[in-house]
Amino acid sequence: MLDPTYVSYAKDGVYILATILFIYALHEMSNPATARKGIVWAGAGMFVAILVTGIVSGVSPQSFVPGISISTAQLEVNLGLMAAAVAIGGGLAYLWAVRVKMTDMPQMVAIYNGMGGGAAAGIAALALIARTDPLDYLGLAVVGGLIGSVSFAGSLIAFLKLQGWMRQKPVTFPGQKVINMLVLGAAVVFGVVGLLNLSGNVGAVGSSITFPGMGVETPFLLFFVLGFSYGFMMALPIGGADMPVVISLFNAFTGIAVGLDGFATSNYAMIVAGMLVGSAGSLLTLLMAKAMNRSISNVLFSAFGSQEETGVEMKGSMKPIEVGDVAAMLAYAGKVIVAPGYGMAVAQAQHKVKEMMDVLEKKGVEVKFAIHPVAGRMPGHMNVLLAEAGVPYDRLFDRDEINQEFASADVAVVIGANDVVNPAARRQGSPLFGMPILDVDAAKNVIVLKRGQGKGFAGIENDLFYKDNTRMLYGDAQETVTKLVQELKKL
Ligand code: NDP
Repeated sequence: MLDPTYVSYAKDGVYILATILFIYALHEMSNPATARKGIVWAGAGMFVAILVTGIVSGVSPQSFVPGISISTAQLEVNLGLMAAAVAIGGGLAYLWAVRVKMTDMPQMVAIYNGMGGGAAAGIAALALIARTDPLDYLGLAVVGGLIGSVSFAGSLIAFLKLQGWMRQKPVTFPGQKVINMLVLGAAVVFGVVGLLNLSGNVGAVGSSITFPGMGVETPFLLFFVLGFSYGFMMALPIGGADMPVVISLFNAFTGIAVGLDGFATSNYAMIVAGMLVGSAGSLLTLLMAKAMNRSISNVLFSAFGSQEETGVEMKGSMKPIEVGDVAAMLAYAGKVIVAPGYGMAVAQAQHKVKEMMDVLEKKGVEVKFAIHPVAGRMPGHMNVLLAEAGVPYDRLFDRDEINQEFASADVAVVIGANDVVNPAARRQGSPLFGMPILDVDAAKNVIVLKRGQGKGFAGIENDLFYKDNTRMLYGDAQETVTKLVQELKKL
């Protein structure tokens, strides 16, 4: 029989190794050049943590829960269930990950994130059912359980909206905020009542909060049902255009819930992994909100996108242009700035765009890329695509760095971007009002590559397309850029 104390030390030693791998992975992920390696390191850390948890649960469950007694037969069943869960979950995740289209990544991130929140809620529920920990630890499990269930249910709604299985516009109704707050408040009350029931203190606090006929589990059951309900209701009034912020917010929630569960169950790997995800997710949420010039409370409570802009008529007309004319314009330009967006991802045009950059640079044209933080459908979407195509990082510029350069650009080439270059964001009353955009309209000439009259994610008209210095080059972005490269090579 192995001494549980030593097994516990060994397990914690391996958890420290996993922690080092997580932190190193985050460091690598902070740079596009090493981000892929970072993902692999993080996966390795998670693999090591899961492996040691499985092995230690099998050889010495006492090193997780001191004093627990468990029969060999039950242990075998538990291990079998764990192996089956890892095989089914891991298998499904693998199949989905290899098949998912780049443009469907946001909903995949949303649903995986929700699974993390659900797992955190599940661990909290188990801690509350097992009740092997002191009461203050169970208090942490209650907080983790609430945050985890909110993250699970909210992420599910985010997934349905992004997948197009639910209407993307905010769902609102009168008294919504009050009802939401009441549901959240009721969840908190049942969590506290559950804890008081456990401590046997109900009578001491006052009979008004005792629930006649309620077993020890009932308040917790209601607590979780209300927690999930609040998660659903919290996400309903949030429109599709705010999803980037919301996904990263739920990501932060999941991390915090896992970290609290880690404290509740004295699992160091969960504490560290949870807090890393929680703080990285919180920072990303703030960055994304800043990129849209919105506060977090405005994102959560303003039902952004539910109001249509009325009474705005576009002045001028959309003026088409031929590929040959654009090629000539680009070939004789001094400076060209490319502003990519979601359409470049849909068309998978990034490799052709890189080829266009190479041809232009050979002709002595200076080429830069303007990257908006919410271009595409996930944070860093454009950076990932352009890095994959081999565009050097020193050609990529953030909005703040490049905006003042548009005025000195001969041509701004907008490739499948719409909302992030929409000057309507400067107009009070527009649903996009306040969102910082790429100032492409300041360039001498603007060429917009898109297929037709399709609107952007926010679903509103784009003033840019009607401006005097803008020309529309219609067609699928990959096909159009391929033709452009051919024409450029002839010049
Ligand atoms: P938009 O979604 O605003 O616009 C994309 C444009 O690309 C459309 O107008 C469409 O026009 C065009 N397009 C689509 N397919 C093609 C194609 N094959 N070839 C050429 N053009 C094509 O993109 P932006 O990147 O400008 O803005 C991103 C939006 O997504 C923002 O509103 C942001 O808030 C939101 N969002 C961002 C997330 C993130 O994390 N980055 C996550 C979720 C939402 P047409 O149909 O005429 O071709």
